[in-house]
Amino acid sequence: MHDQVTATSARGMRPAALFLAALACASPAGSPAPAPATRNIRLAAAESTYAAARDLRDRIDVALAGGRHEIADGTPIAALLPRYDSLRGRLESRLSAVDSSALGPDDVRALDIMRRTLSRDLGPLVFPGAPAAASTSGPAPVPEPRPECGYDPDSIARATHGLDSLRARIYACYGWAQSHVAAGDDTLDRLTILGALGHTDDAPHRRQLFLRLEPVWRSVNGGGGSASPYRRLLALEVETLGSGAPPTATQARASGVPPDSLEPWLLRILETWRDATPDSLVEPWDWYYLVGRTSRALSPRIPRERLAGLNAAVWRALGADVGTLRVHYDLDPRDGKDPVAFTTFGGRTPVEPWVFATYRVGGLDNLNELLHETGHAVHLAAIRTRPAFRDWPDSDPFTEAVADVVALDVYEPAWQQRWLGDSVPLAAGLQSRYGGIVLDVAWAMFELRMLHEPDADPNLVWAGLTRDYLHIRPHPELSWWAMRGQLVDAPGYMVNYAAGAILIAAIRARIQAAHGPFIEGDTSWYAWMAPRLYRFGLERPTREVLEAFLGGPVSPSALLADMRRMRGAERPGTSR
Ligand SMILES: [Zn+2]
Repeated sequence: MHDQVTATSARGMRPAALFLAALACASPAGSPAPAPATRNIRLAAAESTYAAARDLRDRIDVALAGGRHEIADGTPIAALLPRYDSLRGRLESRLSAVDSSALGPDDVRALDIMRRTLSRDLGPLVFPGAPAAASTSGPAPVPEPRPECGYDPDSIARATHGLDSLRARIYACYGWAQSHVAAGDDTLDRLTILGALGHTDDAPHRRQLFLRLEPVWRSVNGGGGSASPYRRLLALEVETLGSGAPPTATQARASGVPPDSLEPWLLRILETWRDATPDSLVEPWDWYYLVGRTSRALSPRIPRERLAGLNAAVWRALGADVGTLRVHYDLDPRDGKDPVAFTTFGGRTPVEPWVFATYRVGGLDNLNELLHETGHAVHLAAIRTRPAFRDWPDSDPFTEAVADVVALDVYEPAWQQRWLGDSVPLAAGLQSRYGGIVLDVAWAMFELRMLHEPDADPNLVWAGLTRDYLHIRPHPELSWWAMRGQLVDAPGYMVNYAAGAILIAAIRARIQAAHGPFIEGDTSWYAWMAPRLYRFGLERPTREVLEAFLGGPVSPSALLADMRRMRGAERPGTSR
């Protein structure tokens, strides 16, 4: 879901749908669950069947995702299907036998979650023999037909369901264009091109690579005129929204970010970056190179063979032994494997986290991703709550932030020295840590501005924002803002990345203050974190968990303070 070029690229966690759906059932109070003995007996019976059904389904799902025909204990999946079906059937009848009027608020919530999960995640499994056919994880490897992109946005916009149809068409064309970028005899995807910019030493070559993305920009903003697909879409969105709140408000609230603070906070982040970085202008293609400096310098120290061992050692130094915690890894390339890294439950009684990723090479970006996925895994392993609540928390920005608390250490010189035996200057590390984030913040701000002023030329708005705050040379002739699918398909989603960065910095600062520094290791760290931040699942709303942890409401001050460390440090130049 995250979508950046640096180490945060291509991280899967959960679809946004879960986050939105979970919000609907978050209760404001987190009263402790009654003792099992006093709990409604029918509910207790349903919940124990629920635990068994989910656990079995998890085991089957990770076997399928791993391309295996049997679960970890060697039982063939085909032999488990009758058991799964009978658990589903029993769960359905037990859930419908519960009288919710006799339940307390926590039990009502547990019942709602179990009913929703049954209909959405515990559907029937068909298993004709080939794992891929029954797989529910990840996109099917069927090639998409090329969409028809020579359309007239205006006529689609004027038809019935114009907004949805236009959104779907732009997104389909964007999806095609971004995965079919012509590069010589090769076809590359957008993230590969942007990643290559960070490792291309020759500036004219970087410019050339960057301009290859032009068809991607065109798929969203056409020729750039007022009748462009995106501008037409935006006009329709503004019409439909009327005076209603943009969808952003709901997303941010679950993580404790007050909706009216969002815009001022985004602005403060951008201003802080502006003031902490050199004011000479850089070209957009050189921006990606500057942000890539840490990875360029340190990646040669991380060969593929060291990747998993280094990841485990870093977590062990924090008191989280991935073996003891039953974390499983599937990291080797395989035909038909989901290309996106993700972590999931591979069993829930007890929790057995599984990390899926594909690494052909080592490098800092891959290590960062693996530390992040393991961050999800140790979080899952620490969940201690009743079966109905044994799930991801109700806020994606929070879940992603929690996973990044340790992964972000790779940008600290002290961490680099301890684990890699070399380091880059602090300012360069911070530029790599925050380069992707501030670009996301600029995109979030861009969307807000466009919603306020739908007649504005998006190229000018973007050129102005990136010049004023990121010191990027304006190129109003290029629609280079038009390469984030979320702008089309999930309006308002970009603010989640900003909210996530605010949360990570706040959590990191709180750990430092309340427990102590952990950059160079601290074996008491995990035991301290688990009961305070990790254990809840869906038991308590994220907002409550976070405010209790932070000792007050979320604020961007830790993020701003961390960014300001760039000011006193050596300024990274454009060389290297
Ligand atoms: Zn993640």
